[in-house]
Amino acid sequence: ASGYNLLRDPHHNKALSFSEKERDAHYLRGLLPPVVVSQDLQVKKLMHSLRKYQVPLQKYMAMMDLQETNERLFYKLLIDHVEELLPVVYTPTVGEACQKYGSIFRRPQGLFISLKEKGKILEVLKNWPQRNIQVIVVTDGERILGLGDLGCQGMGIPVGKLSLYTALGGVRPSACLPVTIDVGTNNENLLKDEFYIGLRQRRATGEEYDELLHEFMSAVKQIFGEKVLIQFEDFANHNAFELLEKYGTTHLVFNDDIQGTASVVLAGLIAALKFVGGTLADQRFLFLGAGEAGTGIAELMALEISKQTNVPVEEARKKIWLVDSKGLIVNSRWESLQQFKKPWAHEHEPINELVDAVKVIKPTVLIGTSGVGSTFTEDVVEAMAALNEKPIILALSNPTSQSECTAEEAYKWSQGRAIFASGSPFAPVEYKGKTLVPGQANNAYIFPGLGLGLIMSGAIRVHNDMLLAASEALAAQVTRENFDKGLIYPPFTDIRKISAQIAADVAAKAYELGLATRLPQPKDLVKYAESCMYSPTYRSYR
Ligand code: NAP
Ligand code: MN
Repeated sequence: ASGYNLLRDPHHNKALSFSEKERDAHYLRGLLPPVVVSQDLQVKKLMHSLRKYQVPLQKYMAMMDLQETNERLFYKLLIDHVEELLPVVYTPTVGEACQKYGSIFRRPQGLFISLKEKGKILEVLKNWPQRNIQVIVVTDGERILGLGDLGCQGMGIPVGKLSLYTALGGVRPSACLPVTIDVGTNNENLLKDEFYIGLRQRRATGEEYDELLHEFMSAVKQIFGEKVLIQFEDFANHNAFELLEKYGTTHLVFNDDIQGTASVVLAGLIAALKFVGGTLADQRFLFLGAGEAGTGIAELMALEISKQTNVPVEEARKKIWLVDSKGLIVNSRWESLQQFKKPWAHEHEPINELVDAVKVIKPTVLIGTSGVGSTFTEDVVEAMAALNEKPIILALSNPTSQSECTAEEAYKWSQGRAIFASGSPFAPVEYKGKTLVPGQANNAYIFPGLGLGLIMSGAIRVHNDMLLAASEALAAQVTRENFDKGLIYPPFTDIRKISAQIAADVAAKAYELGLATRLPQPKDLVKYAESCMYSPTYRSYR
């Protein structure tokens, strides 16, 4: 191998960090300037230049360039500066990147599987250079973040999510495969855009859609085996629920929008209750929004309550109420309710307004998952504060503009009593001389560790008990000190340690349930998880 090629291979390139000996041994003399620098200095220099960019999208593009030229340095940067760079490689910046993907697209970072590839998906998968794939993140681009249908340009999402699998969960980059399924788009602007990179047709639905997805799911199992984790991401809710149900018994599948969100939110609640006292079963829950996130969270909470109190899950569900765009979900709406809402149709009079639902249902926990901003109005928060000494208010809709209320509003309207967390980050708030730090219910707390736990145990199915184990592991990482500041989540700086803990507990559950195939079970699962984690430190080529 020539030194010239070595410098152009993102998996092996170290740029100025090649040592004198490596330069001699690998034909690099003269191809680099004389200086030899450490990886830490490279990180310092790159952070320095990244911080000069004013426009977030420029930072994103610089990071993508780095990923394509020097993979280890990209991950070192991301791991060492996780709080600063998470919003660059993932939400909110990745959303803008997807919107403009057509014009910033340079090199494919994943596989595009469109209707044109029907009947040939196995061959397409074989075109990918790696065979030892452990995680696939796949989207069909129909509901990208809160931005709607971005068609083929949704590719930024699987790429970004998988870089977090590596940086936060330690899954090897070569074991990750981003996939975008293109069945068309209903986004008129994209259909008219001359630079659009996807199929220029309206979305295929019904049988045509099902067949393409089925071919994909079968081909993946055939070529990568039964233990490859397939994470569904940013599908519209009708498809999301169906795919999860359809493939849950035959494949190792996970939907982050439904299950990951549920697990992270449950963790926040468990952590909050650890400090304010009371059990989950003592609470009454009201949701605004009954889609993937809302019903996903509700179901996992019902399961946890059912486990904690030994009541059937149907009974536990009665403590949980949801409001959708048509008002409170009640029995009289049964005929017209989508399947995934039916478990939440309780016996009650119809109620249209959220504030009225708060007054009647008397929730202790209010959760916003509607995607509609400014819906936790002053009277809603005041009603929560009148009912509860410590109202728990979670405004989960993204991006920031869609948040049900701001952190400041939640604190102000509850006289500083609310326990608040949100989907998008909010800056700390000064309230009557006290600094309150709002937590962020970011799915990135859960999925990387959960994924690692599944991989390291060789799990063949995802079980809800694993999600519960992940929630409890995360909640256990929240300290009194965190909570006193207002946080119901631990700081992101410790995320690799947290992920190892989550992975260990998920793996333990997999062994307990008989779903693990990696035998014998390692003695110390936390140590084993840590030993499995990818390190971005350069290797020496001697
Ligand atoms: P979704 O499946 O489309 O569900 C949205 C739900 O909100 C639907 O039930 C819809 O009602 C309801 N809704 C819409 N407008 C409403 C209104 N004006 N009043 C009451 N309900 C209304 O979307 P999703 O995937 O659940 O995502 C919802 C939001 O949660 C997004 O903003 C997303 O960014 C956020 N989210 C946050 C996190 C996190 O914080 N970690 C994770 C995932 C998602 P109908 O069913 O009647 O149409
Ligand atoms: Mn998502």
